[in-house]
Amino acid sequence: MNKHNFSAGPCVLPEPVLRKAADAVVDFNGIGYSLIEISHRSSDFVAVMDQARQLVLELMGLQEKGYEVLFLHGGASLEFLMVAYNLLETKAGYINTGTWSDKAIKEARLFGEVVEVASSKDKDYTYIPKGFKVPADLDYLHMTTNNTVYGTQFREIPETKVPLVADMSSDIFSRTLDFSRFGLIYAGAQKNMGPAGVTLVVIKKDILGRVTRKIPSMLDYQVHISKESMYNTPPVFAVYTSLLTLEWLRDLGGIAAIEELNEKKAKLLYSEIDLNPLFRGFVEKEDRSYMNATFDLTQPDLKETFDALWKEAGIRGLNGHRSVGGYRASMYNALSLESVGVLVDVMSDLERRA
Ligand SMILES: *Cc1c(COP(=O)(O)O)cnc(C)c1O
Repeated sequence: MNKHNFSAGPCVLPEPVLRKAADAVVDFNGIGYSLIEISHRSSDFVAVMDQARQLVLELMGLQEKGYEVLFLHGGASLEFLMVAYNLLETKAGYINTGTWSDKAIKEARLFGEVVEVASSKDKDYTYIPKGFKVPADLDYLHMTTNNTVYGTQFREIPETKVPLVADMSSDIFSRTLDFSRFGLIYAGAQKNMGPAGVTLVVIKKDILGRVTRKIPSMLDYQVHISKESMYNTPPVFAVYTSLLTLEWLRDLGGIAAIEELNEKKAKLLYSEIDLNPLFRGFVEKEDRSYMNATFDLTQPDLKETFDALWKEAGIRGLNGHRSVGGYRASMYNALSLESVGVLVDVMSDLERRA
């Protein structure tokens, strides 16, 4: 079957990862027991957790730089409040690039003063704010590196003296960055790393312990660090499948290798959007996301024909987010260049017919 999965999340995972994960559900590493029926404190699973934590640091080039890796429950949405709970004493800065930043801001306001340092709301979040000043008296600055809904992505990471916190849910491990510029990085696994159910958090340990409020144990990063993500039962299947994806990425050549492929995919699709008169992109060209391309038809009456064509080609998950409409092609790490080629062929086929 032709399978071209452009879903925004949960999303496409590498075929060999799915097979290994499926095998482990029946018999994990040949031990005769399922991964999901053994103790998370058994040496078999503890090894999984240790390897996953190590591999995250290795891929990001963060070994021996004072960072800790956590695998938590609750999705990126729980991190919206955990970040503020653990880091916001008086005042935090947020860059508002739309849905997700908005939600993070809403939670942070429960804990202290929030300054919107920059926002692209004036133009429906179709660009990435630039050239703004970051006040020096913030507890931290929060950004969303890639906006999954609007299809915008920061190319430059803002300069700050205060700890930088980033929601990288939809572009984690997709491109090389100097990860040591971040104090805290979080990401729901289901966009680019694994199945839903686990959230990756990478924290520079020295930014913690500065707030005076009492923090409930399950929401306290320091508790999870001291228990090595085993304060309570971790989502074992999601952690294991994430490890498999990270190993797949390492064997491919790491983040630099996948970045090259991701750039090729994005260039192929965006050049079709720009050259084909039947399509237009939603956002500023220089701020386009390499992960989520948002676009629409210039002739709405072609919708039925276009939808039938891409569905016939085996494409799935191309509808835009309900708040934006149009189309969204999510091109996460495991989506092949061939799949993008199939979409581009369908788009040029539509032009030939019209
Ligand atoms: C999907 C997404 C979220 C929400 O993630 P959950 O794991 O569902 O809570 C947050 N931020 C960004 C950038 C996302 O793409």
